[in-house]
Amino acid sequence: MSEETASAARRFESLAVHAGQAFDPTTGAVIPPVHFSTTYAQDGIGGLRGGYEYGRSGNPTRSALETQLAAIEGGAHALSFASGLAAEDALLRALLQPGDEVLLSNDVYGGTYRLLARVLAPWGIGLRIVDMSDLEAVRAALEERPAKVLWVETPSNPLLRITDIAGLADLGHAAGAVVVVDNTFASPALQQPLSLGADVVVHSTTKYLGGHSDVVGGALVINDDALAEQAKFLQFAAGAVSGPMDAWLTTRGVKTLAVRMQRHSENGGAIASFLESDERVARVYYPGLESHPGHELAARQMSGFGGIVSLALADGVAARKFAESTRLFTLAESLGGVESLLNYPDAMTHASVRGTELAVPEEVVRLSVGIENIDDLIADLDQALAAV
Ligand SMILES: *Cc1c(COP(=O)(O)O)cnc(C)c1O
Repeated sequence: MSEETASAARRFESLAVHAGQAFDPTTGAVIPPVHFSTTYAQDGIGGLRGGYEYGRSGNPTRSALETQLAAIEGGAHALSFASGLAAEDALLRALLQPGDEVLLSNDVYGGTYRLLARVLAPWGIGLRIVDMSDLEAVRAALEERPAKVLWVETPSNPLLRITDIAGLADLGHAAGAVVVVDNTFASPALQQPLSLGADVVVHSTTKYLGGHSDVVGGALVINDDALAEQAKFLQFAAGAVSGPMDAWLTTRGVKTLAVRMQRHSENGGAIASFLESDERVARVYYPGLESHPGHELAARQMSGFGGIVSLALADGVAARKFAESTRLFTLAESLGGVESLLNYPDAMTHASVRGTELAVPEEVVRLSVGIENIDDLIADLDQALAAV
């Protein structure tokens, strides 16, 4: 077997550790060095070594991350950006012309809605909202009017709705639309949308891929060569690239993604069961629970249910009190780090969608369950419920 065939056959955990991470050929350093140089010596005019010319157009540390990300999502091309929203912006501008329309699922990251509604809409991009966990609603929306892009998060943020990616891809492709999946919540360790028929995967690598709440970043993973070329052009021409240190930290995070997601899922499942059996909690949203309407679908298209658990208390007052009463869970925005975080969407992550179709009920609290000891986590939630 050739070296290349051997690597292509490797599985997720091995790719996460090794893809793009060959040791440094000049020194043997097992961890490839971080390349901070902004410019590259040329052997005569245009004589580039390895294609590198200037830090915005290409950087070896960023390339290493892009190789790693493409490998773990099972995609042909990956592009790394300064943030998840920078990646989304580049993708949308690569895909859309004034007059085009985006069909957005009704439970997405507030910043994605804000980017479309407040930045791109003034440039002539149309936006329609639909519940994408309901494929009949998507079909009806596409029959009413075509859309250029279908954009979905599954599991969604923060209500953990599950959308059938393969079904959505079939519907979208039949209508000539590009199907984009924001895979931030599941991560490729649990779900690989390209293999289910999606055209593009979007990531906020700030979350599970980085995994340690210490680096902001974003990525696109794309199979189509022409679309990847257009997005790469915007990465270069608009310039929202990830810096070398950010790219390197993300690469380091990805190496442990598989083991972290396993623990996040175990802890998430245990906490969802604890909350579901507690009468102080009105409702629990977690796709691993049999009571979740998307449970069977999630079990089919995901290999684990992840670490995000949302819960509803009796009302907004109770939710706020609970959110301010935990000790081990830190009240903070963001998610996906090794430490447990708690977020009150209505006033924090989703404040920008208050009063819109995407508004989050005020009794909902979102947990990003970390990798701490499960008994400590449950004890903390128990005492916070007692404080309500
Ligand atoms: C955080 C997040 C984003 C935005 O990413 P940034 O890195 O904050 O720009 C997009 N989608 C989802 C699901 C997110 O959680």
